[in-house]
Amino acid sequence: MGKLKIISKLKEENEALGNSLQKLDQQAKLILKNDMDIKLYQQEIEGPNNNLQLLRKFISSTAHLLDKEYLFGKINSDFIQEFGFEKSLILTFDSLEKTWAIGFKSEETDFIKIFLSGKKQLLKEKKILMPDSEACKTISARLKTKTLIAPIKNKNRLCGFFLVAGIIESESIKDYFLESFFILCLYLGKCLDSIDLFEQVYRTKEDLENKIRNRTRELALSLQRLEAISKAKSDFISSVSHELRTPLTSVKGFSSLLAGERFGKLPNEAKIRLNKVVENVDKLMDIVNTLLDISRIESGKMEINIIPHDTVTLIKNVAAFFEPQSQSKNIEIKLNTPESLSVYMDKSLIERVLINILNNALKFTPPGGKIKITCQSKEEKAIISIADNGYGIKDEDQEKIFQEFYRVKDMETKAIKGSGLGLSLVKRIIDSHKEKIWVHSEINKGTTFSFTLQKVKNG
Ligand code: ADP
Repeated sequence: MGKLKIISKLKEENEALGNSLQKLDQQAKLILKNDMDIKLYQQEIEGPNNNLQLLRKFISSTAHLLDKEYLFGKINSDFIQEFGFEKSLILTFDSLEKTWAIGFKSEETDFIKIFLSGKKQLLKEKKILMPDSEACKTISARLKTKTLIAPIKNKNRLCGFFLVAGIIESESIKDYFLESFFILCLYLGKCLDSIDLFEQVYRTKEDLENKIRNRTRELALSLQRLEAISKAKSDFISSVSHELRTPLTSVKGFSSLLAGERFGKLPNEAKIRLNKVVENVDKLMDIVNTLLDISRIESGKMEINIIPHDTVTLIKNVAAFFEPQSQSKNIEIKLNTPESLSVYMDKSLIERVLINILNNALKFTPPGGKIKITCQSKEEKAIISIADNGYGIKDEDQEKIFQEFYRVKDMETKAIKGSGLGLSLVKRIIDSHKEKIWVHSEINKGTTFSFTLQKVKNG
């Protein structure tokens, strides 16, 4: 009885053990299954993750490239293998029909090129041509390997294709792969957009640079020609003036002596006429001398000595020089200047500027008028202005009065004598100082000439 009890207890224990073993076996199977599932999930995640990493690396190493060769050159055999294929072919449908092939023989490349050139419409319509498409099947039959083709589009126009062949892991092509292949082709298309844009900008820039270079060359030639003409003119004026000066000096000398009755008394009529001759010879001498000065300044032959001087003292002296003339015409000359203002100038040349402008102001202002000379300081410049309330100058004449021999032909002023050289010399002198001169004038209201001079710092 005791034995039977023991046996049945052992049986029970054995059964329980069997059950536990079964449970353990089930759990072990479950663990194994979970492990396999995890591995599968891992593989599924690893695939897209690797592809994404690869795309990210490719984009960051090519985003700055602005050359098609470099860009497609980056799709090398390492890249294609990491992408999961053995071979690849890119073709661009531009005038050169260039190909970038990895792993293909040249006759295979030629076959694909010719075959797909006839399938442009199909490529235009599809996102990707799958291995089971007619086109891929034809190519695969020839290459004896599975292929996948995607169009490359530039500004939404078909500009080439990207073909991959020979799947390394011969499973079916995963969705994530199709997605990244599509993104890659999209990206290549965008890169081509940027390259086109860059080439356009570059070409425009080159065009512009060429145009600027040509224009600069033309301008330099024109300038050379103008300088040569101007020099010829200056030389001509200079030599003519020179040639005229000697006989004129002699005419002036003898006529002055004759008029001064150094060779005997003259009849009154002869004396009056001789005095006219002296007067006109003086004018001629003046013209010849001014012409000589203009040509000497133009040719750089005149010695110009620009050093600090007080401009106010000079203005006061010139105004005083004209006092008898202004009084006889009943014209008031007013000064509005600081006590002193030191500027850089060639004193005797600027004196001639002031004399010529003031002389004109007196000539072209009717009796009873007013002249005002101002000298003001503005930043690093002194601005000297001589304003009159005379006849004024018409707008169309204002730009011409600085030309040699130009005189305004107005009813009121045409009788006023002059050579038309005064302002021409003034302009040359101011230019030689590298300063500016300008005129503001209104008919019957008056004229203001202003010019600048460089102030002496702390002067
Ligand atoms: P001109 O010897 O005739 O004075 P300029 O070269 O000094 O020669 O001046 C050229 C012309 O500019 C003058 O003939 C005159 O018509 C005009 N002009 C110059 N200054 C004045 C002024 N202050 N008012 C009116 N006209 C002027």
